Amino acid sequence: MATAVDREPADGESGALVGKLAAQTAQRIEASVIRQGWPVGESLGSETDLRDWLGVSRAVLREAVRLVEHHQVARMRRGPGGGLIVSAPDAGPATRAMVIYLEYVGTSVTDLLQARQLLEPIAAGLAADRITEEGIATLRTALESELAHWDDPSVHSQDPLHPVLGQLSGNPVLHLFIDVLTRLTARYAHLSRRISKAEMHAAKETSHREHKAVVDAVIADDGARAQTELSLHLESVAGWIEKHRVRRGQRISGNVVEPELAEGPRAKLAEVVAARIHDDIAARGWQTGMVLGSETDLLARYEISRAVLREAVRLLEYHSVARMRRGPGGGLVVTEPEPQASIDTMALFLEYQGVTADDLRIVRNAIELGIVARVTARHAQGDTEVAERLAKAVRWTTEGPADDPRKADLFHSELAALADNPVLSLFLAIITELFRRHASGQDRPLPGDAAADEVRHVHQRILDAILQGDAGVARHRMRRHLDALIPWWH
Ligand SMILES: [Zn+2]
Ligand SMILES: [Zn+2]
Repeated sequence: MATAVDREPADGESGALVGKLAAQTAQRIEASVIRQGWPVGESLGSETDLRDWLGVSRAVLREAVRLVEHHQVARMRRGPGGGLIVSAPDAGPATRAMVIYLEYVGTSVTDLLQARQLLEPIAAGLAADRITEEGIATLRTALESELAHWDDPSVHSQDPLHPVLGQLSGNPVLHLFIDVLTRLTARYAHLSRRISKAEMHAAKETSHREHKAVVDAVIADDGARAQTELSLHLESVAGWIEKHRVRRGQRISGNVVEPELAEGPRAKLAEVVAARIHDDIAARGWQTGMVLGSETDLLARYEISRAVLREAVRLLEYHSVARMRRGPGGGLVVTEPEPQASIDTMALFLEYQGVTADDLRIVRNAIELGIVARVTARHAQGDTEVAERLAKAVRWTTEGPADDPRKADLFHSELAALADNPVLSLFLAIITELFRRHASGQDRPLPGDAAADEVRHVHQRILDAILQGDAGVARHRMRRHLDALIPWWH
């Protein structure tokens, strides 16, 4: 029985406000799913129950449910026995969100290979430590499929071994990140200039031989050798791409959404349409401010109903890809994408995957230690920006606004920005968000509130080592700092 009065949005509840309240409400629903241990198949309650619990209008709840559905955290089931049912997300939306954002900010193949060099050898080492009979069979199948694709026109597009090693590492963060990095590198390899058949076969032979060396080491439980072999292989891939690409630092571009990502078995029509509009925006070079067409134009172009278009537009607005402008001269306008929606999607997917403290520690260490080394080198080369920006970020640890829960993160995000690699910045932001959401799901305050002075002191010590050009000590202090954060993850 409904106790709350069925209220349509009040006059003051504008579209923008509904959107903001809906995003907050979606986060509350998602935090509750996390707190309950992600019980797939269980009901979170009927629409009436949810409105009673959350204290929001019907318009806000419906919008929040759309976001929760978009994240694949839960789905509304209509009819008797219905309600908001917890679901099992797949990697599709998370991967897509990450690829779209990285393409927009202009990621180069150098950025991708740098990130791969930080993460993939670790995955190979972990895979060797925990290899099973089943894993051995999976590795051998991956190697054989390379021989089957011998005449494929691109060397590194059929490179299934890398994601397989990510999967066998048993670390869901590594698995997802390596998957994204391999996909993006493959898209880049497609853009290289025409290569002769003989050259192609020689490259495939080299690649296959190097893969086999990695696999042999993993099967022999030799983690150290697996790491070395994979690292050498990535150097060889980097050398090959360097030789064959069109020009240095070329940006990745082209179709943003691969069909299998956009049209997974559970993708709703609105999601598919949103992905298509995305592609059209990217194909036109992502011109912020450009009008893609009026609502009438779009209905005709995509041959869909008004309801589907409006839902697709809400998704595009949520990812700040495009915005519907009303009135004369209005229409769907291209906007500048914001990473936050992608970060949220990724963090939720990883939370569902049951990421452990150790999984996070391993990936965060690899990324942050790689960043510290790069920033130390940048400062040593005489870049004055490093000292200025980091000193400000250190002060922010204690002097930032009292109600800013992320003020202690600024030091880390500034370091990542100074490393000048958008892939590393995004990965670090995802890990930080995961940490924050997990803590709020457990109703635990994050460190920094209680220990801000101490954290500031540690940040200062890391900065001192960077400014002295002592990469070893800077990395050591960062590692100790990160180890101290881990007890907060439960
Ligand atoms: Zn490879
Ligand atoms: Zn810190």
